[in-house]
Amino acid sequence: MTASVPRLEDLGDVEGKRVLVRVDFNVPMRAGEITDDLRIKAALPTLRWLKKRGATVVACSHLGRPNGEVVASLSMDPVRARLNELLPDIELLENLRFNAGEKANDPAFVRELIQGIDLYVNDAFGASHRSHASIVGPPQHVPSAAGRLLEKEVEILGGLRTNAKRPFVAVLGGSKVSDKLGVIEALLKKVDQLVVGGGMCFTFLAAQGHHVGASLLEEDMIETCAALLEQAQGRIVVPHDLTALSPGGKIMGPGGEVRQAGVNLPDGWMGLDIGPGTAAEFTDIILEARTVFWNGPMGVFEDPRFVAGTKTVAQALVDSRAFTVVGGGDSAAAIAQFGMSREIDHISTGGGASLELLENGDLPGLESLRNAANPEN
Ligand code: AMP
Repeated sequence: MTASVPRLEDLGDVEGKRVLVRVDFNVPMRAGEITDDLRIKAALPTLRWLKKRGATVVACSHLGRPNGEVVASLSMDPVRARLNELLPDIELLENLRFNAGEKANDPAFVRELIQGIDLYVNDAFGASHRSHASIVGPPQHVPSAAGRLLEKEVEILGGLRTNAKRPFVAVLGGSKVSDKLGVIEALLKKVDQLVVGGGMCFTFLAAQGHHVGASLLEEDMIETCAALLEQAQGRIVVPHDLTALSPGGKIMGPGGEVRQAGVNLPDGWMGLDIGPGTAAEFTDIILEARTVFWNGPMGVFEDPRFVAGTKTVAQALVDSRAFTVVGGGDSAAAIAQFGMSREIDHISTGGGASLELLENGDLPGLESLRNAANPEN
């Protein structure tokens, strides 16, 4: 798959050229401070490669959701300051999403972006599942290539589709089944076991006839989950115990009673984490795997009362001898919170993008690079 996407080397001599690099600097921020600069660091190999060969680098990214308007708190200033500490002399444009043309893929905005630009590099894996102006526009006009990060992400996540060592186990959590239906169906064709925790497990449990109390439930997905369970023939593993909160209790709030419970919950009780028995079972499955892909927390890990399941699964990935891949988003944040990031083989910089690449084997950003305005195309 990567073979047909142009690489940095395919750009030829970059000396003296002005290169627009689409990066994904959509970093988590709290009160104006960057809380995790993984995404900035992840783009450095490409930026350094270009700078070292005499190119003038103009980087660009979106940050948050300003919805086409200038929002002062989403300015790139703090990101620019951090980038400048890590690698000086890189120009960084203002938040792309301050212009409504970015999300609308407006040709006028594309023309604005490529004004005075000789070459384009996409290193924004985390945004490459979007057909936005800065992702799919420039390759139509100037010679283009994938940056090192994009290349590596595609190699690893694409590799899971084509040559994962078995047993291959996928661990999925997070809030909604409906968000992940496509990837569940695609993974079922590839994996030996699909382990399900998080909010999405309750729709599967309901499909098995369990009473899920006040837990997160997508009623309109129950039949779909029943069909998936049937199709998977025992390869979908759901929790057999839970950590639950009593009626009147609040997530992240005071009050309520927290109890270990089975998978049939009394009315009003909310399952907010997998139970210890399930966490142990998931650990055993992970320890026997040779490839593990994980996306989505096992419970509401933001609340310390419901972090245990996610932490146990994270520890299992650390202890496993399997090739371990974490698909961005909240599971990457949880791993970082536990200080375990270094012990995972690959933590993707893209949540949605990693799921879409696993599902479809391709992304709009990759497609546009394959069709780029390069001399040999
Ligand atoms: P997602 O963005 O779909 O990956 O979902 C991540 C969110 O799912 C996190 O903020 C978790 O707090 C939440 N979550 C995980 N387990 C549960 C649960 N049992 N009930 C409700 N929300 C959950």
